Amino acid sequence: MPKIAVFPGTFDPFSNGHRDIVEKGLKMFDEVIIAIGVNALKKTMFPLEKRVEWIRNTYTNEPRVRVETYSGLTIKYCAEVNAGFILRGLRTVADFEYEKQIALVNSDQNHAIQSVFVLSEQKYTAVSSTVIRDLILNGGDYSLYLPQTVEVHTALPE
Ligand code: ADP
Repeated sequence: MPKIAVFPGTFDPFSNGHRDIVEKGLKMFDEVIIAIGVNALKKTMFPLEKRVEWIRNTYTNEPRVRVETYSGLTIKYCAEVNAGFILRGLRTVADFEYEKQIALVNSDQNHAIQSVFVLSEQKYTAVSSTVIRDLILNGGDYSLYLPQTVEVHTALPE
C-alpha cells in the first residue's frame, strides 16, 4: 500500500515555508495530498480557486503531489482518501503546543492515522501566511516568501 500523507491547511497564500514542508514530506511518503480546508465561517484573502490553481501550478512536474479541497474534519477526510498520515509543519514552540493538541484529539478520533511533524528550515521560521498577507496589504516586499507560481498580484483584493 502506498504511504499517503495529507498536508492540511488554509494556504492563504501557499508560501515557501509550506513548500519546504511538502518537499520534506515527499522524502517520507509516496504521495502528499495538499488539502485545502474549506470553512464557510473563515474569511480568506484569496479565493479558493486561486489558492488551488497556484498550488497546482507549483507542482505541475511532481506527480506525487495532489491538490484537493475538503470540508469537515481533517481526520475524516484522511480516512476517505486512505491517508495514513497527517503532515504538519513546526516553526516555533507555539506551533508545537497548538499542533500537539490537535494531534492528540485526532488520535482519539482515529487511532490508525498518525500525525507527523516536520521542522521548517531556519530561514522559513519567520514566514507565515498572516505576515505575507500583511505585507501584501501594506505594500511590503512579499516576493521573498512566495513560490513564483503563487501569483498573488493577479488576485489582489480591491
Ligand atoms: P492552518 O490554518 O491549518 O494553520 P496554514 O496554511 O497556516 O493552515 O498552515 C498549514 C501548515 O503549514 C501548518 O502545519 C503550519 O504549521 C505549516 N506552516 C505554515 N507556514 C510554515 C513555515 N513557514 N514553515 C513551516 N511550516 C509552516
